[in-house]
Amino acid sequence: MTAHHPSAQTVSRTGTRVERLPLARFTTLGVGGEAEVWFVETAAQLQEAMEAPYRILGGGSNLVIADEGVSERVIRLSGPLAERDLSPDGQLSTDEQIVTGWVGGGVPLPGLIRQLQKLGLSNLEGTVGIPAQVGGAVWMNAGTRYGEMFDGLHTIEIATPGGTRQVSPAELDWGYRDSGIPRNHIVTRVRLKLRPSTPEEVLAKMDFADQARKGQPKMKTPGCAFKNPGGVSAGRLIDEAGLKGTRVGNALIAPEHANFIVNLGGATAADVHALLDVIRSRVPVPLELEYELWPERPGPL
Ligand SMILES: Cc1cc2nc3c(=O)[nH]c(=O)nc-3n(C[C@H](O)[C@H](O)[C@H](O)COP(=O)(O)OP(=O)(O)OC[C@H]3O[C@@H](n4cnc5c(N)ncnc54)[C@H](O)[C@@H]3O)c2cc1C
Repeated sequence: MTAHHPSAQTVSRTGTRVERLPLARFTTLGVGGEAEVWFVETAAQLQEAMEAPYRILGGGSNLVIADEGVSERVIRLSGPLAERDLSPDGQLSTDEQIVTGWVGGGVPLPGLIRQLQKLGLSNLEGTVGIPAQVGGAVWMNAGTRYGEMFDGLHTIEIATPGGTRQVSPAELDWGYRDSGIPRNHIVTRVRLKLRPSTPEEVLAKMDFADQARKGQPKMKTPGCAFKNPGGVSAGRLIDEAGLKGTRVGNALIAPEHANFIVNLGGATAADVHALLDVIRSRVPVPLELEYELWPERPGPL
């Protein structure tokens, strides 16, 4: 460490690594300024991290984070909270249903889905291609028309500043893209509920779900920008407004699919906000954002 490059890294009371970092690197869009990141590994560290205003960051695949960053602590589930134990629980598993050990909320979903396929374990393959972490995907019950996270959950562990509890899906008011878990309640770990199958059968179902993604752009993006208003395709409305290929700075409305904004390299959050404004001013139907803006922006963009 030199005087010119002071380390922004500290260690908290409970031994948590705390570092001021640009959040861009934690998001699929690749934009976002700095915040204090808490790399939390234990329940005690989590409780300490939640003592001041905080946000929980998962795979960053549904976020547009401002160029100024955010003022709250940003919690990242790390260490054991990003590890998985997929061995069947002897007491809870039967011939028809395998209940796994604990899978950390910080585990990247794509790798987990690939691993389950190799093990020939079914129920979650419909979520293939979603670049989330397990916790974030559970929190919003991410999914596709081929399946969703709640198809394969047995127990969910949730941490709040008041403590930690374990619930079954039946205890939650979950539904379409919604777990019923309040914002900033943290999904720390889950036990999966899976059906024994074969690697070939699971792969065949994954291929099916994968096919549906063929038209999506491969560049840095936070996924779909807007929800489909009243069942009408938001992408089609944006396309019909003649906006495919519109560029602001280094952000672009994808020529492949108008509901995707991509980062051409070096885009800023301001570029993305400006494109969202353009879309909303040109599409005649009110559009609701699919992804989250950090910090939230009041009123219409
Ligand atoms: C290329 C691409 C394709 C996509 N396809 C799909 C799709 O087919 N279906 C679909 O549903 N979504 C899709 N998405 C959107 C995104 O992957 C999902 O919304 C996903 O659930 C976000 O999870 P995350 O871990 O990345 O959360 P983040 O983006 O990090 O955070 C999103 C929200 O979840 C909260 N959160 C994160 N982790 C936790 C946790 N452990 N506990 C509680 N809350 C938490 C955050 O605080 C924030 O409010 C896609 C995104 C991309 C970039």
